[in-house]
Amino acid sequence: MEFRDLKTQYRQNQKAIDRAIAQVMESTHFISGSQVEELEEKLAEYVGVKYCITCGNGTDALLLALMAWDIGAGDLVFVPDFTFFSSAEVIVAVGATPVFVDVDYDTFNMDVDSLKQAIDSVEEQDRHRMKAVVAVDLFGQPARLDAIRKVASDYGMLLLEDGAQGFGGELNGRKACSFGDISTTSFFPAKPLGCYGDGGAVFTDHEEWANVIRSLRVHGKGADKYDNVRIGMNSRLDTLQAAVLIEKLRIFKEYEMEQCDKAAALYTDRLEKVVHTPRVLPEMRSSWAQYTVKFDDGELRDRAIAALKKQGIPTAVYYARPMHLQKAFAGIPSSAEKLKVSTMLCDVVLSLPMHPYLEEETIARICDAMIEVAS
Ligand SMILES: *Cc1c(COP(=O)(O)O)cnc(C)c1O
Repeated sequence: MEFRDLKTQYRQNQKAIDRAIAQVMESTHFISGSQVEELEEKLAEYVGVKYCITCGNGTDALLLALMAWDIGAGDLVFVPDFTFFSSAEVIVAVGATPVFVDVDYDTFNMDVDSLKQAIDSVEEQDRHRMKAVVAVDLFGQPARLDAIRKVASDYGMLLLEDGAQGFGGELNGRKACSFGDISTTSFFPAKPLGCYGDGGAVFTDHEEWANVIRSLRVHGKGADKYDNVRIGMNSRLDTLQAAVLIEKLRIFKEYEMEQCDKAAALYTDRLEKVVHTPRVLPEMRSSWAQYTVKFDDGELRDRAIAALKKQGIPTAVYYARPMHLQKAFAGIPSSAEKLKVSTMLCDVVLSLPMHPYLEEETIARICDAMIEVAS
C-alpha cells in the first residue's frame, strides 16, 4: 500500500505526461522553455492572482518573498510552532528572528489569540522590528487568513501565506495561495500538486514585488542575466517540471481534488467515533495534503503505528517535534508554556494514507485496523 500513490497517478495519465516530457526533450529548451510561462499563467488564473513566478522549490519561494521585502537582521517574523521546518528556517536564513506561535488543536493552524499574545510579549521598544507573519495552510486546510491578516495589518506587518500544503484549498470560495501579500507553494512530489522533482511558486498581486522576485530568481538580473543589479540566487523551475505540471494541474482540477474529498469523507464517517478526525471549518475547503487524526495519548498513537505497520499500512507522524525544540533553533528565545498545544500535538498526531487514487476497499481496511487498535 502506498502512503501517496504517485504510481497509479502516472499509469492513469501516462500518455499525456510522456508526450509532454518528449516535447521538452525534442525542443531541448530545458531552462525557460515556453511551458514555464504557460504554467505560470495557468497557475495565476487558477489561484486568482495577477502574478505567478515559479522557482526551484517551496523553500526558495518563501526565501524569495522575504528577500523581496528586504527582511533581515534585527527583524521579527511570526510563524507557527507546528509546521514543516522550512516555514521557520527561511526566517533565520535571511538573518531575521522567528517568533513561534502556538496552533489551534482542531485545525493545526496558527491560533489567532496566540498570535496576539506573542505580539503582546514583544517589548514596546522592539515593536518596530515586527515585520511579517508567516501563516501556514497545514495539511491542506487554509489558516484563518482573514483574521490573521487583520492582526498583521493592525501592527503594520506583511502577511506571507505558506501554501505548500494548501494549494487547491479554499476560504469562503477563494483559493489558497491568494491571501498573502505574497503567497507561496511547493511542487514537491508528495504535495497536493506535485511535479517529478523539486519545484515551487510565488503568487502576488503586487507588480513591483513580482518584478523583484523575477530578478532575484536569476542572480538578481537587470536587463539580462549578465546585468546583475542585486544579490539573488539561481532558483528556476525547469521546463520538464513545468511540462509535467501543466498535465498534472489539469487532472488536479478535473477530478483529483474531488477524489480526495470523497476519501476524506469515507475516513471520517468510519473513524469519527474512534479518534479525533480532522475538522475542516465551514468556510474552508481542504486540499487534503494529509489526513491527520489525533489520539487521546501518545502511547495509543504509537500502538496504532505498530499495529498498522504489521498489516502493511504505511502511516507518518507530521510532525514529531515542534519548531521551538528543533536543535537548529536552540538559540532562539521561546516560551514552552505558550506553545503547549503544538508540543502536545507532536505526541498524538498520525497521518493516514491519503491521495486521489485511494480505493474504497483500501480505506475500509485501514479503518478496520484503526478500530481494532482503539477498542
Ligand atoms: C513542503 C513544505 C515546504 C517546503 O517545500 P519544498 O519544496 O520541499 O522546499 C514549506 N512549507 C511547508 C509547510 C511544507 O509542507
